[in-house]
Amino acid sequence: TRNDLKGFFLKNAFVILTVAAVIIGIILGFALRPYKMSEREVKFFSFPGELLMRMLQMLVLPLLVSSLITGMASLDSRASGKMGMRAVVYYTTTTVIAVFIGIVMVLIIHPGKGSKDEFTKQQKIEQVSAADAFLDLIRNMFPPNIVEACTKQFKTQYAKKVVQVKVTVNDTLFTLNGSQELTREEMVPVPGSVNGINALGLVVFSMCFGLIIGGMREQGQPLKDFFDCLNEAIMRLVAIIMWYAPIGILFLIAGKIVEMEDISAMGGQLGMYTVTVICGLLIHAIFVLPTLYFVITRKNPFVFIGGLLQALVTALGTSSSSATLPITFKCLEENNKVDKRVTRFVLPVGATINMDGTALYEALAAIFIAQVNAYDLNFGQILTISITATAASIGAAGIPQAGLVTMVIVLTSVGLPTDDITLIIAVDWFLDRLRTTTNVLGDSIGAGIVEHLSRHELQNTDPEVGNSVVEE
Ligand code: ASP
Repeated sequence: TRNDLKGFFLKNAFVILTVAAVIIGIILGFALRPYKMSEREVKFFSFPGELLMRMLQMLVLPLLVSSLITGMASLDSRASGKMGMRAVVYYTTTTVIAVFIGIVMVLIIHPGKGSKDEFTKQQKIEQVSAADAFLDLIRNMFPPNIVEACTKQFKTQYAKKVVQVKVTVNDTLFTLNGSQELTREEMVPVPGSVNGINALGLVVFSMCFGLIIGGMREQGQPLKDFFDCLNEAIMRLVAIIMWYAPIGILFLIAGKIVEMEDISAMGGQLGMYTVTVICGLLIHAIFVLPTLYFVITRKNPFVFIGGLLQALVTALGTSSSSATLPITFKCLEENNKVDKRVTRFVLPVGATINMDGTALYEALAAIFIAQVNAYDLNFGQILTISITATAASIGAAGIPQAGLVTMVIVLTSVGLPTDDITLIIAVDWFLDRLRTTTNVLGDSIGAGIVEHLSRHELQNTDPEVGNSVVEE
């Protein structure tokens, strides 16, 4: 009946609007392509999308800090220790599986034929040693200035047609994007950063801070209430922005389709490479992660994924897992009813360090570059690639095309030419969106699994007060 229909629409309004936005965005984008808009016109056209990116990014810093602090403060140290262990085991396992899938796919399909004739873009990229990059990652966990860690700015979130990637080591890794003279403002500090914020440093700080506040019991209560309230207020802002999200996503997608280069350029080796990455990501996202979820929780993984739809589409639209974080929170807590103490704890950490899609992609891309160079990799080198790809995915920021930058670490570790990153830049904007979606899915399923495994600890902890009320 009509009332049923109305009820169905209201209940699923977000999902329907979001899916409609993607479809309309794609149609609109292709319809406008023949008009060959100038770069400036494309910028105007995608403006509503740019606004969505900015609104989401605006919330990341307060959301990350307040959710981690309250998350940690509402768990007693034993519960958070156990939950943390489970999260780490999940992150490591899924990342290793992802890397493995990437390597197997690229070895089986073998998209690189050992010739670079088909590729045109070549630029110089500076070398960086893997050891320096590792040290940088650790360094960034301890920001000497917590205010600076929140404020570092960058300007490069919008991929440009010709991207120069240049990495130097001087306390931080930097990437420069653009086709013209680059300014200092365009530099992006890479390891563990989100939005130009040193997220890794803030995660470490907020977790310790939250744990301490939790341990202080009564004395810590005012601070805990403060961050609780901050978190609640930010989530209400997210609820408002969610109504705008479909419009933003529509224009982000349409704008990208309007400006993308001719698709026929995707033929040959690059086309095969794209297909290989897509297959790898699909296997991980549609088979591995859901199976893992089912085996552990005995619940239907696709119902769980259905609840995440808006977050997944936002990831596809923004190609940034950190910008998607606010929506991921909302989907998990509201649609999938995952315990807030779990999401607050594992989501910010996951969005910063757990990137299955990026890990899979980095290993796959590195081996593809070896194939194109007719460079035979031995088992030891493939092992090195899998280790450095894991590290590179941890270090990659949750911003568009960050994975491309940390690829330098993987390539140098086995002596492959880093300049060859430019071979795959042409298709990266697209693959980036898919790996970002996989990243967000991995974090979300992780939250579901950790919640299931931690159900006893969660029962023993009073959700209101947050202190342990029943000792085992
Ligand atoms: N864009 C990805 C993300 O935000 C990172 C990457 O470039 O792989 O998750």
